Amino acid sequence: MHDHIGLVWFRHDLRVVDNTALIKASEKCNRLVALYTPTPMQWHEHNVSPMQANLIERRLIVLKEQLKQLNIPLIMVEVPDFNSLPQVILELVGELNIKHVFCNKQYEWNENKRDSQVAQLLANNMVRFTSFDDSCVIPPLKVLTKKGEAFKVFTPFKREWLNLFRHQSQQSARPYPVPEPLDAPPLEVEQLDNQKYQHSGRIKLTYPFAETMLWPVDEEAIRQRLVTFCIEKAADYHQNRDIPSIDGTSCLSPYLALGMLSPRQCIAALMAEYPECLEYPDEGAFTWLNEIIWREFYRHLMVAFPKLSRNQPFQPWTSKVPWAHSEDHLRAWQQGRTGFPIVDAAMRQLLATGWMHNRLRMITASFFTKDLLLHWHIGEQWFMSHLIDGDLASNNGGWQWAASTGTDAQPYFRVFNPTTQGERFDPKGEFIRTWVHELKDVPDKYIHQPHNWPQAETLDYPKPIVDHKAARLMAIDVFKKAKGEA
Ligand code: FAD
Repeated sequence: MHDHIGLVWFRHDLRVVDNTALIKASEKCNRLVALYTPTPMQWHEHNVSPMQANLIERRLIVLKEQLKQLNIPLIMVEVPDFNSLPQVILELVGELNIKHVFCNKQYEWNENKRDSQVAQLLANNMVRFTSFDDSCVIPPLKVLTKKGEAFKVFTPFKREWLNLFRHQSQQSARPYPVPEPLDAPPLEVEQLDNQKYQHSGRIKLTYPFAETMLWPVDEEAIRQRLVTFCIEKAADYHQNRDIPSIDGTSCLSPYLALGMLSPRQCIAALMAEYPECLEYPDEGAFTWLNEIIWREFYRHLMVAFPKLSRNQPFQPWTSKVPWAHSEDHLRAWQQGRTGFPIVDAAMRQLLATGWMHNRLRMITASFFTKDLLLHWHIGEQWFMSHLIDGDLASNNGGWQWAASTGTDAQPYFRVFNPTTQGERFDPKGEFIRTWVHELKDVPDKYIHQPHNWPQAETLDYPKPIVDHKAARLMAIDVFKKAKGEA
């Protein structure tokens, strides 16, 4: 039985391949309209980085064209804030006589609340609202302990995730194809007020950044990046993934964060190249799968523990940590002027490109929360407002891990030494010299401690803003006291 007209509401699932809501809607309805509801006035407030906003805008141009091939017009309604969304959607479904709205779930607290409000309002007006689990291979609340509870620790979560993946979910883990074009001609949306609904013409780029062109948005380029990674880099991933000067990771996170690519597509591409990878946990392909499972773990945690998307630490005792408040330290970290070369190189790369390597995210977040003892939430927001791949679950997970406030986090007494981390993961200082130009002539021997170089006076580079040894002891002490262990 076909509903007449359906609406597919796109959010962080900007693709036509393997899009559960789109597939289900096209099975149910003979005519479809697609909707995207940007909230640019809230992007700043919600820390959407300009780099990411640019990526979204460019992707929408591609998506609009792809949907057109399926006889589905894409309408955009710019809304001032989340609160006005339910009414805007109700008006649109009324104008187009839509009987069923489809979307993929977003698991964050605000987005979840917004969807409940939309669903309620539509139900009051006899319009159905159906949302699907789509952004994880195995949906939240499906990977549970024997007691039926959410896992709080990654390793047993992974074990159970793999168990389900092996025995039940291989079928459902397979990506859906692009749906067939609808037979019925596309709905005439031209009648809609073009002031209110943008449905024709080009999408305006409000954030034109040349740097973001490093992140192509067309389907083939994204697919190529995935396939090339699987063929050329996955085998050595376990050896190269921690070295920032090596191009050894997939650089797919912006696409996964915005749903331009699904985790099922990633795993399918990996399995095509390494069908036996589950049997070789010490090798590169499995190590990469492990990271996809980390992504799932953080999403599952956010659903099981909604406080995580509400700025609260996972470990309640860590609320007692007396975080420091130093504007000077904050600014030095943000601008890459801490006097610790690996930290500064990473922070400058973030400012310039919106990107940072995973090892460097760990080092800079640890430095922020332990050496500077600044509140993890401030660092989390800075990352979110600058990263091209900003993703609440992974970012919050990463920050709470580094700050020792999260579940399965780095224990508070294990504090990264930024100098030895630099020596270990950028031994010759190649990455440092790329981003901290003042240090380009410093010999390898001093690249991680340039203040000890006999010619340090000639450098326009700050001395370390903290003494790591003293800062480490101080951090351990305040955490110990907060936990009541002192
Ligand atoms: P690859 O190494 O190729 O991994 C493949 C995919 O697995 C990634 O694209 C990503 O989707 C996922 N992944 C990899 N590592 C992790 C991880 N540790 N946690 C969760 N998922 C992971 N990732 C984001 O996508 N958005 C963020 O906002 C974000 N913020 C972070 C903040 C901190 C403090 C830390 C420590 C990590 C953060 N991460 C975040 C996780 C990780 O750093 C990035 O996903 C990774 O660097 C992206 O590079 P890649 O695509 O080359 O990853």
